[in-house]
Amino acid sequence: MLSLNAYAKINLCLDVVGRLENGYHQVRMIMQTVGIYDTLSFERTTGEIKITSDAGEIPLGEDNLIYKAASLMRERFQIAGGVSVHLEKRIPVAAGMAGGSTDAACTMKAMNLLYDLGLSEEELCTLGVKIGADVPYCILGGTALSEGIGEVLTKLPPMPECVLLVAKPEIGVSTKEVYERIDRHEITDHPDVDGMQRAIAENDLDGVVRRLANVLATVTEEMHPVVQKIREVMLSQGALGSLMSGSGPSTFGIFEKEEMARAAGEQIRELGLARQIYVTKPVSGRE
Ligand code: ATP
Repeated sequence: MLSLNAYAKINLCLDVVGRLENGYHQVRMIMQTVGIYDTLSFERTTGEIKITSDAGEIPLGEDNLIYKAASLMRERFQIAGGVSVHLEKRIPVAAGMAGGSTDAACTMKAMNLLYDLGLSEEELCTLGVKIGADVPYCILGGTALSEGIGEVLTKLPPMPECVLLVAKPEIGVSTKEVYERIDRHEITDHPDVDGMQRAIAENDLDGVVRRLANVLATVTEEMHPVVQKIREVMLSQGALGSLMSGSGPSTFGIFEKEEMARAAGEQIRELGLARQIYVTKPVSGRE
């Protein structure tokens, strides 16, 4: 049996710079892996693709991104055998943390190992984008600039050391709807993605905090004021900065000290703003 962890991400910066004819958005994002992860256990079988999970809220059939990834690898490399996958879900679902994409990325890596395909990370990334725009980044992990529709990746040095508090309010956000709404706005205030890259390169935590920005946050916060409330509590409890990740609603705060992050998390729970709360750290690509 092969057991692998699939890590979640947050966005330190998220900008939308264009829209393609096919509806995809051109983005510029700074992605960061965090220490919240699903654990996937894989076994080679002679049969089909089978998924089991402790998570009630996600489909376990052909709609699961694990299924899509395994199926793509089987077809592309004419693998006769199947795979059985058990998913221990810890990453909040439909939350802006790439939970499905990271499971798909992990499944591609596992198939590569289980069936001795000998594919490079780059080859896996090229294939991975067919499943989802965030899949190539999830294969790479760590700190990265993501451009194009998410498939043009530049690896960056690790972000400065800090503690992260992540809170996911009990609301569902449709990524599709958030992007549709952003299409109706003209984006005038673009995040300083280049400055964020410099701050990371200089290991300057204040510089990172100053440039935290996500153009989707305005849209999601308009629909769901709880996101802004969570940010306010994080900031009043000592967070250096706070931002919604992806299309939300997961929201993170950057802290210097773990005790402060924990206290802020407690407060968020007591106020009933979120139940899924994690104190974690940035993770570099090789962990
Ligand atoms: P992103 O940050 O890439 O927008 P997300 O965190 O918003 O991703 P996911 O957790 O990936 O969203 O889930 C989006 C939808 O995909 C869910 O509603 C779920 O039904 C479906 N899904 C399919 N496979 C998975 C999986 N392995 N894990 C989680 N969700 C999955």
